[in-house]
Amino acid sequence: VEYTEGKGWHDARIIPYQPIQIDPSAMVFHYGQAVFEGLKAYKTVDGKVLLFRPDRNFARLNNSNERMVIPAIDEAFALEALKQLVTIDREWVPDAPGTSLYIRPFIIGTEANLGVHPSKSYKFIIIMSPSGSYYKEGINPVKIMVEQKYVRAVAGGTGEAKTAGNYASALKGQEIATAEGYSQTLWLDGKEKKYVEEVGSMNIFFKINGKVVTPALNGSILPGITRDSMIQVLKSKNIPVEERRITIDEVVEANKNGTLEEVFGTGTAAVISPVGELKYLDEKIIINDGKIGEVSQMLYDTLTGIQNGTIEDTFGWTIKL
Ligand code: PMP
Repeated sequence: VEYTEGKGWHDARIIPYQPIQIDPSAMVFHYGQAVFEGLKAYKTVDGKVLLFRPDRNFARLNNSNERMVIPAIDEAFALEALKQLVTIDREWVPDAPGTSLYIRPFIIGTEANLGVHPSKSYKFIIIMSPSGSYYKEGINPVKIMVEQKYVRAVAGGTGEAKTAGNYASALKGQEIATAEGYSQTLWLDGKEKKYVEEVGSMNIFFKINGKVVTPALNGSILPGITRDSMIQVLKSKNIPVEERRITIDEVVEANKNGTLEEVFGTGTAAVISPVGELKYLDEKIIINDGKIGEVSQMLYDTLTGIQNGTIEDTFGWTIKL
């Protein structure tokens, strides 16, 4: 779909995947007006194709648009277009356990102009590709490392927008973590460097003394759709869950006094990822002997069950095509 000033969004079309032509002066290359989303289409056990809360992705895309001064998209139109696209490509939705069709909607500023101002033209594109299972065999706990020096995003900055720059700023932490043998970074808040924010591509949860705690949304944490869904599942099962600020020291303390029971991340790609090891300063915290915990396993089973159609979707989250 193209956007032109004065004309709005126009010329929606579905074409085979191919390179696109963009002017070297296109504003996205220089000033970073780029926003994106990530979601998946799943094959259900009865052969249908299922989308999980796609309306939330388009709503979040519009939040990102607002922050990045990109014109809003028509969410209902985008959802209809996505349904058409996935229906045409339904043969590309794989059906092996854990696999899916990954969907990446994105918008870029395309005006050829080196002046710093919001672009006057845009492209809104949706690309898709079959994707394998995140885990090769079952669910493997991940090792994450608390980043000390760098900050991913701050409230008031581009914070919670799902914009390219936030991911560029996170690469340095990823490099540091990888060099130390950890798979992802745990980001702390940008101001005091003491409150837990989120992990590279997932939101984070801690089970401490029977209660599940996740950092409250604060303007810099990405409002994860899996995060929101899992909070609703926990509530529906009467498992206490709190959204509040949590310091890294509280986590370290809970580990010391034996009340840190589980740590897990949530995300479209990560699904539910148990955290087996957490590194903070010189301390290496091993959680639940490096094994998946009860609540993490329950959430994993519930989420994947709803997505593959073996568990009834009592929340009204899914669209079957
Ligand atoms: N945080 C970040 C920084 C992410 O990139 C993602 C993945 N979109 C998430 C959290 C999880 O969000 P969701 O559950 O919507 O995939």
